[in-house]
Amino acid sequence: MASVDIVDVRKSFGAVSVIKGVNVSIDDGEFVILVGPSGCGKSTLLRMLAGLENISGGEIRIGDRVVNRLPPKERDIAMVFQNYALYPHMTVAENMGFSLKLQGASRDKISEKVRPAAEILGLTNLLDRYPRQLSGGQRQRVAMGRAIVRMPQVFLFDEPLSNLDAKLRVQMRTEIKELHQRLKTTTVYVTHDQIEAMTMADKIVVMHDGEVEQIGAPLDLYDRPANLFVAGFIGSPS
Ligand code: ADP
Ligand code: MG
Repeated sequence: MASVDIVDVRKSFGAVSVIKGVNVSIDDGEFVILVGPSGCGKSTLLRMLAGLENISGGEIRIGDRVVNRLPPKERDIAMVFQNYALYPHMTVAENMGFSLKLQGASRDKISEKVRPAAEILGLTNLLDRYPRQLSGGQRQRVAMGRAIVRMPQVFLFDEPLSNLDAKLRVQMRTEIKELHQRLKTTTVYVTHDQIEAMTMADKIVVMHDGEVEQIGAPLDLYDRPANLFVAGFIGSPS
């Protein structure tokens, strides 16, 4: 586990500034949700944490390391995307172990890591199946399994539930929270869904147009919104 510090981070694409000096401090083991309307810069910020996007200014620290210039694989993070493409020609076990295989881990080592992760996610009986033989929820679990096998210091999620139907979405919220309670891995989770944010987060970061409007526990934002934008966004149905 590790803390994450985002210090005056900026991002421009050409002349367009999309992240305008964001500051967020995330404690060891905390579950933090970045929430805000589409286009406000959530994915860009997450991709900068992951190292998939260069930062135009500021500093990102994971634990006590400044990671600004580190490539993704040296950051000790794992990311679960909205479009969690599984490899169709690989079994669940192979999908989960693939990143370890790329790192040159032996078969025994891979299976030693995949088994407990599968256990945690209830995938033990599905390890030999192919993605096409799984339900949407099971596929989502495999996508999380790929992240868990690496036991990273930080999990990053980008709208992982947005392709699931409403019922499954509610169920997966609970599962992800249970997973977090079990592993206590520092997590940064992006969503545009305020209900997801209010029900899952230890701490919510409300973003709007590349800036942070407010940071607080769900009830703080609900009881004491800093401005009309936060009040409107937290209070409106998704
Ligand atoms: P969100 O995830 O909150 O919906 P994004 O981080 O995807 O928002 O996008 C923030 C802004 O940055 C948007 O205006 C988007 O069009 C712009 N943007 C994102 N990626 C790029 C890119 N590679 N090139 C140019 N503009 C981009
Ligand atoms: Mg996005």
